[in-house]
Amino acid sequence: MKTIKPLLVTPSAMPGESLAGLILRTSERNGFTSPNEILKMIGTTEAEVRSVRPPYQKLSQLFARPVTEFSAMGYSARIPAKRRKQWRIGQHSVSTRYLSTTSAKICPECILELGYVESFWELRHAIACPKHQRKAITHCPACKVTLKWVRPGMLKCRCGQDLSEAKGDMVGDHDLLNMMALIKAKIDGHKLDQVALVNRGFPLRQLNSISLETLLGIVHRFGLKMMLNRGTQLPPGQTDETFALKEAAKVFDQWPNGFFDYLESIPDTKKKVESFNLQRQFHSFIYTLFKTGLPESEISFLKKAFVAFGNQRWKTKGFIDIRLVNSAEENRTVVGISGLAKYLNVQPPTVMSYVRKGLIKGEKLTTGKLTRRIFDLEKDVPFKPAEGRYYKIREAALFLGISLNLLRELKQKDIYRIVRLGWGIGGYSELDLIDFRNRLLQAVHKHGAFDPVIHIKLGKILNKKRLDVSFTAEIIGELLEGTLQPQGQDGAHFRDIILLRSDIDSRLALAKYRIMNDRIHLTA
Ligand SMILES: [Zn+2]
Ligand SMILES: [Zn+2]
Repeated sequence: MKTIKPLLVTPSAMPGESLAGLILRTSERNGFTSPNEILKMIGTTEAEVRSVRPPYQKLSQLFARPVTEFSAMGYSARIPAKRRKQWRIGQHSVSTRYLSTTSAKICPECILELGYVESFWELRHAIACPKHQRKAITHCPACKVTLKWVRPGMLKCRCGQDLSEAKGDMVGDHDLLNMMALIKAKIDGHKLDQVALVNRGFPLRQLNSISLETLLGIVHRFGLKMMLNRGTQLPPGQTDETFALKEAAKVFDQWPNGFFDYLESIPDTKKKVESFNLQRQFHSFIYTLFKTGLPESEISFLKKAFVAFGNQRWKTKGFIDIRLVNSAEENRTVVGISGLAKYLNVQPPTVMSYVRKGLIKGEKLTTGKLTRRIFDLEKDVPFKPAEGRYYKIREAALFLGISLNLLRELKQKDIYRIVRLGWGIGGYSELDLIDFRNRLLQAVHKHGAFDPVIHIKLGKILNKKRLDVSFTAEIIGELLEGTLQPQGQDGAHFRDIILLRSDIDSRLALAKYRIMNDRIHLTA
């Protein structure tokens, strides 16, 4: 093997400097007219310099520096052979589709301040400098030719033009600048905590934990026309990159509300609407974002937010497919009949009978010839699934220590409420019975001694056979409502609740009057 003689000037790589940038800088410092001369010396090509395995060993000879210095820059990291289209960029490996590989971009102000070219500018989406808030220079102002990496100097065009005075247009669009700041921090390996990004409510915790490649992949996908947010034409004055960046900024804005707004803004005509399944309605979107190779674990925050969109925003328009919910490791609150049956742990015909009886309403959707009912588990479903033991009415009445007729009356008047199912709505959940008993006991707020002259216990009222169950049920209802105030309690059971005789007498008189009045009406 031919030995490589070290160069005269061998600068160290600077943080954030790309390998290509380092070679250009070294070429300039050594007085070469083009970095091609360096490439020739180490027998390599322009493409190889930035490929999966850059020739860092040969470079170490040329620079007379230990290999470790180059590996510390990330130039030597191993990438699986199947990812051949990945190029090294600093500590990252990025797919060539997210890189500007043929042309170069620069911020002359940055080069003047830093003295080197940052690898940020090799990214396709790096269109402006977040620091100087100017668009990148992509063409020589003198010869109008696209800037190339292979040029005489960092600030010198192939035509000889000095580029240090060149200035890109000022960028006033904060969405673009925020995205530039985001990508710049990501490539530099900085924590994402920039004030502007915090103020815009970007999902920084989630974005912090994804790779540069995934971030660029997300941005890129929001610019694709199959993401349904535009026709075949780009808005005037925009490129694929600016469009993608602005869309991504909208999506990240006030996370997840910006994302929800974005999804809602997708025109209906672009959706597959002949379905009530959220996943089918947003088929192209889901396919592009979730099924085109972005790493599952890194985009789970998008998937979770998509399910949240279904649960919170889209709820009246479709239900969420169980597979999507499971893969996002989320819960869904909007379901169809079978999902509702599963939730309540009953058979679908049972749920259908509740719907027919009007016990569960839900939302009726119609599209084309399809009709379907969807249910918001938080709003439309008055019951919880069966839980714990449940009884038939006889055992339930015994459990509470009241008569069967009274319990039936309480349930009919909705004073005893079914919260959890037990034998559908026909049974009594033990947990509901305990809740009911506790609610009655909690109606007592003061301690008072029992005085048989002015007091009567609830148990005594419950025992009076002559009293109508509807009257007794109303007494219990009033206790729960707080319109009848107990005077205390001298035992652990709700039968020991102490009431004023006068309160009961006045209600009895009123009930008798009502009955009499009814009779008068009946006989009149
Ligand atoms: Zn700059
Ligand atoms: Zn030029």
